[in-house]
Amino acid sequence: MKILAYGVRDDEMPYLEEWQKQNPDVEVKAVPELITDETVEWAKGYDGVDVYQQLPYTDTVFEKLDSYGIHNVSLRNVGVDNMNPEAVKKYNMNITNVPVYSPAAIAEFSVAQLMNLLRRTKEYFHKFDRNDYRWAPQISHELNDQVVGVIGTGHIGQVAINIYKGFGAKVIAYDKFHNPELEKEGLYVDSLEELYKQATVITLHIPLFPETEHMLDKAAFDQMNDGVFIVNASRGPLIDESALIDALDSGKVAGAALDVLEDETKVFNKDLTGKNMDYPEFWNLTSRENVLVSPHTAFYTDVAVKNMVQYSLSANKDLIETGTSDKLVKF
Ligand code: NAD
Repeated sequence: MKILAYGVRDDEMPYLEEWQKQNPDVEVKAVPELITDETVEWAKGYDGVDVYQQLPYTDTVFEKLDSYGIHNVSLRNVGVDNMNPEAVKKYNMNITNVPVYSPAAIAEFSVAQLMNLLRRTKEYFHKFDRNDYRWAPQISHELNDQVVGVIGTGHIGQVAINIYKGFGAKVIAYDKFHNPELEKEGLYVDSLEELYKQATVITLHIPLFPETEHMLDKAAFDQMNDGVFIVNASRGPLIDESALIDALDSGKVAGAALDVLEDETKVFNKDLTGKNMDYPEFWNLTSRENVLVSPHTAFYTDVAVKNMVQYSLSANKDLIETGTSDKLVKF
């Protein structure tokens, strides 16, 4: 049994090699190149491919895989939005993904960034760099004193809630579908309006759908408490960035921690040293002392990368051996 893994980064290799040792019946070859109309030809003679890329999977890639008799494609990530569902069906592709690789990675990061906001660490680091070691006027806030409004109580939201409870914060939550355990604890409020009214911190852990795009817009900010803190480690377009900038200007929002941005593909995971790029909201937000922008790194831990690599290879092996997998994506 042979699997060709595309787009493999150096940091993924140790986990791929570990999986290979545990599965000596499978031969895995790793290449750093992404799967394209040209590189797909390298898959001839393999039983499956393992992939991860932001760039689109072209219809030709699937057409060629089909012509080589390969129908097993395993993603090391979650999203399948960069492949055409019609092509997937037309060429009888079995696609698996890794829907849950480490909710704690994202939850812990979002809490850490909130702590940095509350304790104003960016401002202190900048003062420190100027040899200014005075503490005033950067008086900070305590997490245990906050009312944390968690929007989205799925895998990541639940871990975040447990961490916030550990810090002694009051937690309230909103989700379209209630988790029975959290329901028993009485954490849910009935509406977003209610959450906006009560929360001193709002953290987003819901997916991006047409209905959730710009969920935090001017109308939403207007309903929030003055001096609210916003955390987004979910998806950039959940927040209307222009409205956020206005809310920061007015003081409605006291600070924001953003691991994702509306137009982040222009910037994130790229080396733009010495280059200028046309994204005024990015420059506006990153220049602020009370805004922390990180380049979509919440997921990037050893545990998460290991799980992404090893779960995807196991899913590909399952597909090859049995024709199915518990990680099969329905199109
Ligand atoms: P999940 O599917 O387990 O949970 C999402 C929750 O959102 C569910 O409980 C669902 O009922 C709820 N929901 C969906 N639509 C809603 C709506 N309109 N209103 C209220 N609630 C709604 O997902 P998860 O694994 O917890 O991930 C949450 C999000 O985190 C993902 O969608 C992804 O965008 C983001 N994410 C970010 C990173 C990162 O590195 N920053 C990594 C992984 C995931």
